[in-house]
Amino acid sequence: MDAKNEQDRLKELPKIDVLLRLPSVETLTEVHGRSRVALALREMVDELRAQLRENPQAVQELEKWRAGLTESLRVRLESDLESALLPVVNATGVLVHTNLGRAPLSDEAIRRMAEMAATYTSLEYDLAAGRRGSRSLHAQRLLARLFPGAAAHVVNNNAAAVLLALNTLAEGKEVLVSRGELVEIGGSFRIPDVMRKGQAVLREVGTTNRTRLSDYEEAITPATALLLKVHTSNYRIIGFTMQASLSDLVMLGKRRGLPVMVDQGSGNLRDLSRKGIDGEPSVQDLLAHGADLVTFSGDKLLGGPQAGILVGRPDLVDRIRRNPLSRALRVDKITYAALEATLSSYLTGRAATEIPVLRMLEETTDSIGRRARRCATALESAAPGSFRLEVIPGASLVGGGAAPMAEIPTSLLAVALEGMSTQEMERALRRARPPVIARIQDERLVLDLRTVSEDLESALVAALAGIVGRRIRR
Ligand SMILES: *Cc1c(COP(=O)(O)O)cnc(C)c1O
Repeated sequence: MDAKNEQDRLKELPKIDVLLRLPSVETLTEVHGRSRVALALREMVDELRAQLRENPQAVQELEKWRAGLTESLRVRLESDLESALLPVVNATGVLVHTNLGRAPLSDEAIRRMAEMAATYTSLEYDLAAGRRGSRSLHAQRLLARLFPGAAAHVVNNNAAAVLLALNTLAEGKEVLVSRGELVEIGGSFRIPDVMRKGQAVLREVGTTNRTRLSDYEEAITPATALLLKVHTSNYRIIGFTMQASLSDLVMLGKRRGLPVMVDQGSGNLRDLSRKGIDGEPSVQDLLAHGADLVTFSGDKLLGGPQAGILVGRPDLVDRIRRNPLSRALRVDKITYAALEATLSSYLTGRAATEIPVLRMLEETTDSIGRRARRCATALESAAPGSFRLEVIPGASLVGGGAAPMAEIPTSLLAVALEGMSTQEMERALRRARPPVIARIQDERLVLDLRTVSEDLESALVAALAGIVGRRIRR
């Protein structure tokens, strides 16, 4: 192939400024802006040039390329803007589903977030004094009411809370942790790693299944700065086991002048044992048992926005607040707005009805069963005779690494469709808009309405009805 020929062929490539003047391209320019359109066109022409170099025959395709230009350009520009963040219908029955963004917020939290997002605020302004104030006052008053006598500080998430506490209280010093509590939560949060990043030295005590108070006691040296208890939130060690109780640790801490910190995780503020959920102590409970510092998430069982909350001894919290790392881990006005609204629901005693996660937890099996049958009826009229539908007993999960063993009784809608496998149905539901995330149990597709609010039932039914069409078209 001679160079001259190639030159000729490449000369046929369309010029960007000519393309930009095409009326159909000009229409796109109005929507997407001239520079984005020019950039996309340049990419497309570059790709075309590469194709022509590779395969001279492709010059025949140039007309087709021109004909499809506007459409490919539009698709390219729009897919650039498409968010990967979509609302989904959580039909898994996992209340605090970390992959699905954990807790949906209360109406009041949403209203306050929108209000504060739209305007300037008193975030760091002292209105009485007319000068710079402190953003950490927000939520502090509410937290002080919820945890009398304790001070509080809010950061980005619980991992940040633990990191900040370790760095403040134990930088360059040793922290004692039971070998049974060296937790990993969701891959990236591992106690030994957070310890290292917090510049604290992990000192493991006891064994995986048994750690006695004397194991802690014997490990204490002048280098020890903190006794840490980590809530084993996503697993249980069962069988021949023993862990020193918090009260015992607190006694030891007092005797040796060492603070005791508990990474509680879930942010549960209520007695869950009446819901059959054991081993999820409330934050208040831990403080009442003498914990000097407790850390937890805002978006797990607390039911609020992503945040990490530290509560405890005012002198410790004050040191934590003054750590320069605090600045890097701080939260914005929108988080404060949502967190304050969430905490208010606890103070007014309306948490169980106002906070979605708690409302879902409280819904009875009967009520969920009724809603499942209602969906079945709607589905039957949307796609008569297509599905085999059955409402069966099952279990919902707390999730989010809390109460791993607790199964909350629920009613499941089991769905079968002639000519489509369970896996195919599950996949098709994920492709619906909004996507529906279902569960497969004993080879059956099941939907747990506990985590589907009433206003999303129609979307659920529409997604299911939609997969019938998909099956027929195939
Ligand atoms: C969830 C959890 C964390 C991590 O909290 P994030 O808010 O996800 O950062 C840490 N410790 C425990 C015990 C947890 O349950």
